[in-house]
Amino acid sequence: MTLAVSGLVRRFGDTTALDGVSLALGEGEFVAVLGPSGSGKSTLLRALAGLEGADAGEIRIAGRDMAGIPARERQIGVVFQNYALFRHMTVFENVAFGLRVRPRAARPARAELARQVRELLALVQIPELERRYPDQISGGQRQRVALARALAISPRLLLLDEPFGALDALVRREVRRWLRGLHDRLGLTTLLVTHDQEEAMELADRVAVMERGRLVQFDAPPALLAAPASPFVAGFIGHAT
Ligand code: ADP
Ligand code: MG
Repeated sequence: MTLAVSGLVRRFGDTTALDGVSLALGEGEFVAVLGPSGSGKSTLLRALAGLEGADAGEIRIAGRDMAGIPARERQIGVVFQNYALFRHMTVFENVAFGLRVRPRAARPARAELARQVRELLALVQIPELERRYPDQISGGQRQRVALARALAISPRLLLLDEPFGALDALVRREVRRWLRGLHDRLGLTTLLVTHDQEEAMELADRVAVMERGRLVQFDAPPALLAAPASPFVAGFIGHAT
């Protein structure tokens, strides 16, 4: 689905976490939001997901205004850095939970639910792990479970907040490549938040650079490298002039 954000503002006391952010994603696009710690990336993602309010501005998904639409009705899949898997639930149950939180009308019956869970685990390539608990699998595998759970709601939009942060460098590179491949197959509009410029440049069709609550440049990686809009952008993407 398309996503359009305009003039989004979010304040916490004296801090302006989002200072009038506008951006638009086309259907099936993969966009990275890149910026240093504290630049407002997570606040933006949480606002999109409906987990955080906004003081001004507008969010539209597929043209529809999201004001007043609760998180569970937005049909957005979210993956956080720490995975937030349920430790007392098996891999199967974690993914099934994603299916159970659907609106009542879209909730599958038991046999159908099991079929859908297995389909999702096959999609993220860990069909053999369904009986394990989160502490019995690796970090990269946990990340795949979190992604399967996010995909279980048939999201119209996928939001990822520093999803590879807890992985070591080698696994991170592998999971990154795999995620991009999965995106290309599913064609799901995706917004990934990261402070890692290499990750943003490698994965995304376009990169939105944030500095202190503002979106300072939004371009395809080659354009960002060729013509950074400010010394901040130039410095951040490692091509300081
Ligand atoms: P990032 O994800 O880019 O590191 P955040 O969106 O988490 O940045 O934070 C942006 C700013 O808003 C920071 O200054 C942070 O301290 C502040 N902030 C975020 N969430 C809260 C909150 N719940 N209460 C107070 N301040 C917050
Ligand atoms: Mg953050």
